[in-house]
Amino acid sequence: MRDFLTELGIQPVNSGVFAGEWVEKPSGGTIESISPIDGKVIARVNLAGDDDYHRAVDRVSETFKGWRKVPAPKRGEVIRLVGEKLRKHRDALGKLVSLEMGKILPEGIGEVQEMIDICDFAVGLSRQLYGLSMHSERPSHRMYEQWHPLGPVGVISAFNFPVAVWSWNAAIAAVCGDPVIWKPSSQTPLTAIAVQNIVNDVCADAGFPALFSLVVGSRHAVGEPMLADKALPLISATGSTAMGKRVATVVAGRLGRTILELGGNNAVLVTEGADLDMSLRAVLFGAVGTAGQRCTSTRRLLLHRPIANELTERLVSAYKQVKIGDPLAEGTLMGPLLNTAAVDTMQKALEQIKKEGGEIIYGGQPLAEMAGGCYVKPALVKAPKNLPMIQHETFAPILYITEADTVDELVAIQNDVPQGLSSAMFTDSVRSAERFLSVAGSDCGIANINIGTSGAEIGGAFGGEKETGGGREAGSDSWKAYMRRQTSTINWGTELPLAQGISFGD
Ligand code: NAD
Repeated sequence: MRDFLTELGIQPVNSGVFAGEWVEKPSGGTIESISPIDGKVIARVNLAGDDDYHRAVDRVSETFKGWRKVPAPKRGEVIRLVGEKLRKHRDALGKLVSLEMGKILPEGIGEVQEMIDICDFAVGLSRQLYGLSMHSERPSHRMYEQWHPLGPVGVISAFNFPVAVWSWNAAIAAVCGDPVIWKPSSQTPLTAIAVQNIVNDVCADAGFPALFSLVVGSRHAVGEPMLADKALPLISATGSTAMGKRVATVVAGRLGRTILELGGNNAVLVTEGADLDMSLRAVLFGAVGTAGQRCTSTRRLLLHRPIANELTERLVSAYKQVKIGDPLAEGTLMGPLLNTAAVDTMQKALEQIKKEGGEIIYGGQPLAEMAGGCYVKPALVKAPKNLPMIQHETFAPILYITEADTVDELVAIQNDVPQGLSSAMFTDSVRSAERFLSVAGSDCGIANINIGTSGAEIGGAFGGEKETGGGREAGSDSWKAYMRRQTSTINWGTELPLAQGISFGD
């Protein structure tokens, strides 16, 4: 075992179920966690069966009864300690993210930094779960609202942010008074087990109850039961739009709540006069970073015609210099895709693009000579605006380049996809920038000026519209989704006036 795996408590064979304690022999079978770096097995994980899932849910339900009564600022203390512990293990956990998922080490460590940032945010938030007070229309009455804990929260996460997404939910949920049960992607079970070890130590050392449970398991044994489970008033699900549609349908069927963070199809618009150096760097990071496997990856580059040729040429030469290889090695800019299935999906998408009339102007080839079979060259495609494939999120480094004559046209093309996560305009014109941010501008949950589409800070509410699902996580007032609002009116007078001045049997 490598040192950082030992530091994080990863064994050759691991339990994937924590329900107040590690379940020694979960009943859902065993999987191998395979590194996309070289195709080798990192370690094995025993999966949750149906019985293990119910054990974990019963545990968080029991924990909720006590945790909701702990004052919120004291709840914040557990997250402060989780943040401290994450600081100690930041590099080790960042390395494991790279090893198991394939993103380059600075991005792996950046993901853990994001966990630390949300912990800091949540600690402050634990003293700011404000409700409003309103003026009552009745004399000697006071009306106000308060926010109570909602209940145990089910978190379902995707492979590409194997630890940060859990923390966006878990840190906020914990200070809001909600224990969490987590189903991570079965592609990245070891990072989840490492996080679970970290929070277990914190809860045990500081005398807190086990607030966080883990159920690594299949859709059948864990995923679907979670969706249908009335013990979980909120399901926060991150993943593909197809998955989100299923989650929305099942959870709505029991009138539960969802936070849905689904697929994106993000565009960078560049206008005449924009700083092309900045545009180039932002597009390169957005399209090639995480090998195009971020929900916020730049998938479309929409160029004002006068600057289109110059920026495209500069992009091709920048793509030629991208160092592809071991994501743990210094200087690598692009690691592997998640697995060989992702490489196949990318190849099929490129075939389809060609059939539909798109022109591949650079890259796209698998790098078969590299270990593991998961490395590809990132692709640049010249595409007419009506290319059907543009409507779909292919989770791979394919960047479509489309030209247009006017800012209005650029904005219209940007909005003409089913997804609505992130968008960005590079411009030196206040008029164009404000046009992009106006009510008739970008229809996305995130709209940036002179910043790329990916790399959001935790202080803002994160999420997107349309088929991205409408959910919001992390900063701003996203916490409200994890609590229930109660409006209370108190009559401290001696009369019983009715609202709207109604007299009833007076
Ligand atoms: P995925 O949809 O295949 O899986 C996501 C998670 O959902 C996994 O844990 C999976 O096991 C679970 N799941 C799938 N079907 C389920 C079901 N019926 N019931 C319960 N759970 C179920 O996605 P992925 O391949 O892991 O991740 C990539 C996708 O996630 C992309 O579409 C990407 O855009 C999206 N994503 C979105 C955000 C965001 O914040 N908007 C962030 C990260 C990833």
